[in-house]
Amino acid sequence: MATITSRPPTPFANRSLTPFEEVNYFVDRAADRLNLADGLREMLRRTWRELGVQVPVRMDDGRIEVFNGYRVQHNGARGPYKGGVRYHPLADLDEVRSLASLMTWKNALLNLPFGGAKGGVQCDPTRLSEGELNRLTRRYTANIEHLLSPHRDIPAPDLGTNAQVMAWMMDAYGQIHGHSPAIVTGKPVELGGSLGREAATGRGVSIILKEAAEDLEMDPKSAGIVIQGFGNVGYWAAHSLDQMGCKIIAVSDVNGGVYNPSGLDVARLVKYRDRNGTIADCTEGDCVSNEEMLELPCDVLVPAAIDNVIHAENAPRIRANVILEAANHPITIDADAILNDRRIPVLPDILVNGGGVTVSYFEWTQNLQEFHWEESRVNEELHKVMVTAYDSVRQKAHADGITYREAAFEIGVERVANVVKLRGFV
Ligand code: GLU
Repeated sequence: MATITSRPPTPFANRSLTPFEEVNYFVDRAADRLNLADGLREMLRRTWRELGVQVPVRMDDGRIEVFNGYRVQHNGARGPYKGGVRYHPLADLDEVRSLASLMTWKNALLNLPFGGAKGGVQCDPTRLSEGELNRLTRRYTANIEHLLSPHRDIPAPDLGTNAQVMAWMMDAYGQIHGHSPAIVTGKPVELGGSLGREAATGRGVSIILKEAAEDLEMDPKSAGIVIQGFGNVGYWAAHSLDQMGCKIIAVSDVNGGVYNPSGLDVARLVKYRDRNGTIADCTEGDCVSNEEMLELPCDVLVPAAIDNVIHAENAPRIRANVILEAANHPITIDADAILNDRRIPVLPDILVNGGGVTVSYFEWTQNLQEFHWEESRVNEELHKVMVTAYDSVRQKAHADGITYREAAFEIGVERVANVVKLRGFV
């Protein structure tokens, strides 16, 4: 197991940080260890380009509602900007910046030839009809399309968006530029999406757990796993871990969760969710709230929903042996320091949830070549990328006595800093 060192108190302990400042805290620590020159560090801390647009939508009742939309390109030194589009009420400019920055470090850590970007529309997609979502997506795409292209910036799904939204984006972009499947990834397979893309993020989580199990002195087959979130990532993580033989003891969605220490039948949970629209109140186990879920005793805790769910207040009560961050930024930096002091290892988001963008890369490659891969090939290549990234993080964490997150950021930041220097454009 990696030696976990104590982190100095955060310089901002007396005020809460914005999501972008939280990510930059780790960028700074990596830059310190790498001894980066001030100007280079500043380039990597800031976003390259930010676009805010209004997204007026004709609602079904005839009203016009105006939403805020963003596309933030954080760093493009390693290749075209790449990252998802989030539809969520909290997807403001600062959150989108933080997620764009995470994409830069994730893509670099996975060694994908991409920079980092993110988009967002501040809305609650669960309260929009299909027609309203379609019109919102088209207007948003039309308003940001001048920043996009298959070799400039390639969006994908994120929280609140899915393959259908990508189909609308591709169509809206194609109305201006002609048929361009490589403009988005995570599309429906019928429109050029990749086999295995939908399951990829969850599958990646299980690949990382399998690799990490040995270091963590854990038998994945007898490990009890708690998964917060049952959307695309949470569901596919539960499915893949279940197939690997793990015992899923609790799962939740936005409405609440279900806990059964002797193990849940994931297939039955899905049937229940499909019938009832939620897994809360499912009789396969005891009902638990989302907050209680996080504090259940377990071997592995997988936050797979939204950011900041583990914070200074609940971090002392976490009873997991290891945390795998399937969501982006589910742990605040204060909580990260507390978990570190409590010697609970955290495998970070930019590693654990990298399966999604990895198969996005394969999808983009297939689109550019106008050639389809079989699912077995997608899964094999995904496995290689994830295992290589995990090994690099593990080795660095062990060798330098730093946390997995510090190691992951350091690898990402060093790779981006190197290509910035190689390009010689400053
Ligand atoms: N939204 C996903 C992420 O945060 C996938 C991004 C992509 O496929 O470009 O990694």
